Amino acid sequence: MSLEEYKGVFIFAQQVDNELSNIALELLGKAKDLAADLDEKKVTAVLLGENVEGLTDKLAEYGADRVIVVDDPALKDYRTEPYTHALASVINEFKPEILLVGATAIGRDLGPRVSSRVHTGLTADCTQLEIGDFPLNPMPGQEQKHQQLLMTRPAFGGNTIATIACPNFRPQMATVRPGVMQKIAPNKGAKAEIVKFNPGFEENNCYTEILKIVKEKANVANIADAKILVSGGRGVGSPENFQILEDLAEALGGTVSCSRAVVDNGWKPKELQVGQTGQTVRPHVYFAIGISGAIQHVAGMEESDIIIAINKDENAPIFDVADYGVVGDLNKIVPELTKQIKDA
Ligand code: FAD
Repeated sequence: MSLEEYKGVFIFAQQVDNELSNIALELLGKAKDLAADLDEKKVTAVLLGENVEGLTDKLAEYGADRVIVVDDPALKDYRTEPYTHALASVINEFKPEILLVGATAIGRDLGPRVSSRVHTGLTADCTQLEIGDFPLNPMPGQEQKHQQLLMTRPAFGGNTIATIACPNFRPQMATVRPGVMQKIAPNKGAKAEIVKFNPGFEENNCYTEILKIVKEKANVANIADAKILVSGGRGVGSPENFQILEDLAEALGGTVSCSRAVVDNGWKPKELQVGQTGQTVRPHVYFAIGISGAIQHVAGMEESDIIIAINKDENAPIFDVADYGVVGDLNKIVPELTKQIKDA
């Protein structure tokens, strides 16, 4: 493998039901950052599906200079084999230096398959990516490239942070945790170069047949997209008492989320958990109510624009990251706050 043949930053533009997933736009934002530090500045989105060409304009608006489209009935709904075949074929044909995939349910399935198919490494669930020096000896017969993709991810259950590089193989592949990277502001009317690519599909190479798709009822809010989050911790005291947080969220047009202690107690579903082993959120306003501010919780919400903490313990670490803090009993403060907002 000659490393020099591999150029440019590519992202897998995940779509479901012909709608682009947020992660595709977040990856484009990060890809632009990385490409700025490389010789090849062009950012490429790889779009797989059936009748998906209508999505290329949005990819262009969010930073794609080029979109490689593989449009085939075999790719209508996600299945491991045809998607692996399509993405691996794109890599073999276009030779990206870097390929980013979202660490979504689809990406966690697809990324490792593809990396193994093209004989490269994969760093899973990254929370930080940058171009930098990695002081490692090359494999015999291969030249050393100093500028590597440095891929950072929590390891050993979040107890340590590891930075990993892939100096001897290409592409450098990472799956990236949703909600961590930032989209760029859309450039309305931007156009990308469209490249149609057909790797050819043989249905008898596919071992999965989709008989029926049963959609999960959307009764759990998507906290990653919320502009206002009212988050509760163990200090809320009981599942019933979360009603006072629901009332505040309703008055503000926000959404309720929670700490891991709340999930572990069975008060709220895991989908609402913020933090290192939950979701990373970046709302405009984040209320931390009865939450102590453990490092694993803060890791998931510290990028919020405004953090407001309510806690009866004035020494709670959450006040170290809060922009505004109220020391006192949440059972008194939260209903009063809701009343004031409703009356205003
Ligand atoms: P507590 O730490 O018990 O804090 C409760 C707070 O409520 C206290 O500060 C208390 O003063 C306050 N309080 C109590 N009563 C009142 C009242 N009446 N009015 C006002 N304030 C009151 N945690 C996460 O949240 N997300 C994660 O993703 C996550 N991942 C983890 C991963 C690993 C590997 C490990 C080891 C831990 C992880 N944790 C995570 C757990 C984390 O370390 C904390 O245990 C957890 O965040 C604590 O939740 P809490 O703040 O709700 O509860």
